[in-house]
Amino acid sequence: MALSNGVQTRVGRRPGALASRPAAAAPRNRIATPVRPNRSSTVVRAIEVPSPTSDKPHQLSVDEIDVYASIDSATLQQRRPRIVVLGSGWAGASFLKALPSNVKDKYEVIMVSPRNYFLYTPLLPAVCTGTMEERSIVEPVRNLVKDKGDYYEAVCKAIDPKKKELVACFPKDAGLDEACFKISYDTLVVGVGSVNNTFGIKGVQEHCFFFKSIEDAKALRRRVSECFERAALPATSDDERRKLLSFVVVGGGPTGVEVAAELHDMIFEDLKELYPTVIKDVRIRVVELMDHVLSTYDRRIGEYTAQQWKRTGIELVLNSRVASVRDGYVNVVNKANEETELPFGACVWATGIAMNPLLKQIQEVLPGQSHFRCLLTDEFLRVKGSDGSIWAFGDAATIDQPKAVEYVDRLFEQADTDRSGALCIEELRLILKEASKEFSHLEEHARVLDAKSNGFAGVMRNFWQSQPAAAATSPLNTVEEDTSLTKEQFKELLQQIDAGLRALPATAQVAKQQGEYIGKLLSGGALTGTNAAAPAPEGAKPFRYHHKGSLAYVGGDKAVMDVPSLGPIFGTGAGILWKSYETFAQISLRNQLLVATDWIRTKVFGRDISRF
Ligand SMILES: Cc1cc2nc3c(=O)[nH]c(=O)nc-3n(C[C@H](O)[C@H](O)[C@H](O)COP(=O)(O)OP(=O)(O)OC[C@H]3O[C@@H](n4cnc5c(N)ncnc54)[C@H](O)[C@@H]3O)c2cc1C
Repeated sequence: MALSNGVQTRVGRRPGALASRPAAAAPRNRIATPVRPNRSSTVVRAIEVPSPTSDKPHQLSVDEIDVYASIDSATLQQRRPRIVVLGSGWAGASFLKALPSNVKDKYEVIMVSPRNYFLYTPLLPAVCTGTMEERSIVEPVRNLVKDKGDYYEAVCKAIDPKKKELVACFPKDAGLDEACFKISYDTLVVGVGSVNNTFGIKGVQEHCFFFKSIEDAKALRRRVSECFERAALPATSDDERRKLLSFVVVGGGPTGVEVAAELHDMIFEDLKELYPTVIKDVRIRVVELMDHVLSTYDRRIGEYTAQQWKRTGIELVLNSRVASVRDGYVNVVNKANEETELPFGACVWATGIAMNPLLKQIQEVLPGQSHFRCLLTDEFLRVKGSDGSIWAFGDAATIDQPKAVEYVDRLFEQADTDRSGALCIEELRLILKEASKEFSHLEEHARVLDAKSNGFAGVMRNFWQSQPAAAATSPLNTVEEDTSLTKEQFKELLQQIDAGLRALPATAQVAKQQGEYIGKLLSGGALTGTNAAAPAPEGAKPFRYHHKGSLAYVGGDKAVMDVPSLGPIFGTGAGILWKSYETFAQISLRNQLLVATDWIRTKVFGRDISRF
């Protein structure tokens, strides 16, 4: 039945009816909003679909899920192209922010996400200890969408890339009945992020605290409070008290390090005064597979953190992997194959990410999709095999970077302008510059040559623009002014450069830049979903990531920073810079003020660990 607001609903399904088929061809309508179902007139079969945080792949296709309503598309001539964005995380929120306020003139934008707020994840560890209040680091999606489009609080459960439609459901865990509806799209932008990776290790799912959402941070905060209250009871034995006050963090990456640091701050800055008799039994351990923490940062940063923690009492269990977890105990095996059981009151799992199960469904129907964690895109972030109708960004995507060496014949011929059969330095410089438009990873190497030829100005440009690691190790550093490269030598050079190709990290920084990039492409008119066969969106440049540095808080008001061109910075000064950065990087002025207030509140009044 088509309602007056343009949404088609399905009513009167018999209980227990088999999986539904899509609504019969009904008149296509302009869309208003989906209607919340009236349970008395609409019957929906209970559907077992894994939640987005589950490890299991999706089973049901678009046609197998019962829907209450269908947001159909009219023909393109009659309406603006519709862009549906999945996810309100870093990628989705940055995308919305980058859209011009008059976007509605050109496109119909719909955001679908089960989380009706944007979460500033870098400060999530501070929420689990009460340093930061959760409201301070979230921004309602509706504030971001405003008059740019529509927002539906729903989980996308199935996508049919061929029919260009998806099914989204108001989540059952929101306390009301589940309500599913179908949306057709012209362009789909996928920013559903990733899920926690348990690596299939026994007991992790059941006994560990994950650390990805506000709910996770609140659950850990509650647990720490429970552990202290229970430990302080006269009925608690010494052994039990020691176990309750043992906190294990698995994973020595930035998240694990920050959770351990925040826990330590809270316990030794605030709880020490409140639980003086039990504080001696507190232990915080960080289990890490490598021989140092923060292994993606400069080595000196890991060493500094270890020294710092040795002084403050956070213990490192290095070169060790978790073999299994059971209630209150984590089984750890070191490189010498020695097993140890670490007791815990709370164990935090902060080890890595896995594919959102929704992506698996897209992967299965599109050709050329084989990545273990996310969707493969081209350099414009268009999902491979989708003919330009699906784009992906953030943790849900990785760019399938083309290797320059595979095109060596063409590049050499193009470069050898004097047809001498060898490339002089000027020819090399020009071809690297030209080819970096096609192979973005050549750009930083082209700059190395540029810096050599342009003297001080080139060096300064290189200093500000490049990632020093790549520039420092570039094979072009050894190229002399009188160089003459044969085709074979040129091939070798490209092979060496290609060997340095790295996937972009799954970070907020990448997701944010990608969100802004797609938002700007859209404003420029490149994202219509109708230019499917075009080799590249008209007038668009491939996505380029600009790494601005990595930060982590290590406790006691100290932080570490790995900044391109400056190198590692650590200590109290870095701590001040970190706090300032995390305050000003908030998505809105409201958040900036709330975060600044929380830092001051914590310093003046301490943290509150009351359990609600
Ligand atoms: C504790 C913590 C600290 C971090 N600190 C940093 C840091 O300091 N610096 C940094 O660069 N990175 C940091 N990261 C990593 C960073 O948060 C992620 O890389 C980033 O969030 C990825 O952005 P995204 O938009 O791809 O995904 P997310 O931000 O995870 O957003 C995914 C969105 O998709 C929605 N969604 C999920 N499934 C569906 C579905 N089926 N249908 C519709 N919507 C769906 C979710 O509700 C969510 O809104 C941190 C991560 C964590 C967990």
